[in-house]
Amino acid sequence: MSLTHYACTHCGGWILWFDTQEPLYCANCMDVRNALPNEAFSYIHIDQAKGNYKTYHRKHNDQFYEFWTEPQLGLGSHGWLILHPQGNIAYEAAPFYDQESLQFTQSLGGIKYLAASHPHGYGALWQLQEAFDPMLMIHKDDLQHTKAFKVTQPMDDHLELNGNFIFDRLGGHYDGQTSLYVKDQQLFFIGDALKIEFENEKPVALSCHKGFHYSIPLTLEELKKYIEIFSRYDFQSVITPFELGHPIDQQTAVLLFKHLIEIGPHTQPVPIHTLKEKYVRKSTTTI
Ligand SMILES: [Zn+2]
Ligand SMILES: [Zn+2]
Repeated sequence: MSLTHYACTHCGGWILWFDTQEPLYCANCMDVRNALPNEAFSYIHIDQAKGNYKTYHRKHNDQFYEFWTEPQLGLGSHGWLILHPQGNIAYEAAPFYDQESLQFTQSLGGIKYLAASHPHGYGALWQLQEAFDPMLMIHKDDLQHTKAFKVTQPMDDHLELNGNFIFDRLGGHYDGQTSLYVKDQQLFFIGDALKIEFENEKPVALSCHKGFHYSIPLTLEELKKYIEIFSRYDFQSVITPFELGHPIDQQTAVLLFKHLIEIGPHTQPVPIHTLKEKYVRKSTTTI
């Protein structure tokens, strides 16, 4: 018996399964937080992915890189790489890494630490694990989603690494959803704690949800937890498994959570100008 990896073409999640037959279903798509494919599950074997997908990267600054796959595979997650003298860290993953992208990552010093916020950011974590043998960290409450790779360091609710990388359990969307704050660059990786609507590449509206497909809102306690974690850090941008949202600062994000607690949780996008006007009006009234 030999095992191999298949990607679900609908969500892009990888499944470890028998080489001789396709997976029976995709557990990720079966989850209430995701949509089912319209007709049937279909998969791509890792050997088919090679040659059919190409991995691209963008350099945001000398220490910060973004990776993605074209054509889009599944939901199209993006992987992020942060260079650091005490060991590079990769957070989330693109759905597929071609040989060139793995060699390029190696030329930047490889990956010492590998982690992801929640299953929508897992992408091809298993490929990065095979290539670089990093410490692979996932929150202990999300271990049931990690069959495609091997978690070498389950995380508790708070973890600090080399005085620069701070992980916190956000929960909410997924029980083990975890944020990462990179101190020296003020980068805040938030999983899917916020869904960002863009116009001309500028964030114009924000929403949050427990499950997007069925429009399941967060609970009040989950929103309070988001406020608690977001309030700890100073940032001007947030990074999800799909995109970098700039500018979105702590005040704007926390305003959304407070707004939803005040009027009752829902999953509809709230324009950022509405949140800011509400804040300005309130602070003027207070004065
Ligand atoms: Zn799937
Ligand atoms: Zn998600």
